[in-house]
Amino acid sequence: MARVHRTIRMSSCACGRVRCQAVGVPILSVVCYCDDCQEGGQKIERLPNAARVLDADGGTPYLSYRDDRFSCVSGADLLVGYKIKDSAPTQRFVASCCNSGMFLKFGRGHWVSMYRARFEGDLPPIEMRTQTKYRLVNTEIPHDAPSYRTYSMKLIGKLLASRLSMLIATISRLMALVPADGCPLNHQNPPLEKHVENGTAWVAGCHLADLLPFRVIRFILTVCP
Ligand SMILES: [Zn+2]
Ligand SMILES: [Zn+2]
Repeated sequence: MARVHRTIRMSSCACGRVRCQAVGVPILSVVCYCDDCQEGGQKIERLPNAARVLDADGGTPYLSYRDDRFSCVSGADLLVGYKIKDSAPTQRFVASCCNSGMFLKFGRGHWVSMYRARFEGDLPPIEMRTQTKYRLVNTEIPHDAPSYRTYSMKLIGKLLASRLSMLIATISRLMALVPADGCPLNHQNPPLEKHVENGTAWVAGCHLADLLPFRVIRFILTVCP
């Protein structure tokens, strides 16, 4: 199967025991000023020795990634989820080893918003500031990116587009792999790769995966966030 090079970014708690990985282009690089993010961030910052997650003006910078491009590669057992109230659909996950805010998960949303402060190295520029109607300070808002008082159509559009590309990725993956014990079209070409997943062996390389629709899907996957 075609291999696509994707950037891998690591976020790490202050003491280094919890490390999370994000692959590819984020859905969005955003600063959120909503009341929940401010309250949730303050709650984290009140924990002993916690590192800051909020900017001085109350905004929280995030890099948001699709669920299927996010993983916790070490220290997952140290993560503790915090809610603003019991019924809240959002949990903010903190590395309990050093009380570093790591990421936010919104209920059944298909994305994870990782606290930008936990990343090192080159990061994508901030694309927008959102929910600025909740911004409390009187200082001028930074002009590094467009600001929106509420959730913008651009933000909603990016989330919808990422959900679609995630769906396409799943379908493509399922259809490009066929059971190792036989191609459904009886193709005789040798398998190129072998995967074992859930106890079943699968091969990639069946002619099925070379049909035009799959080439189109692969192309889409290379350009979609
Ligand atoms: Zn730690
Ligand atoms: Zn928010």
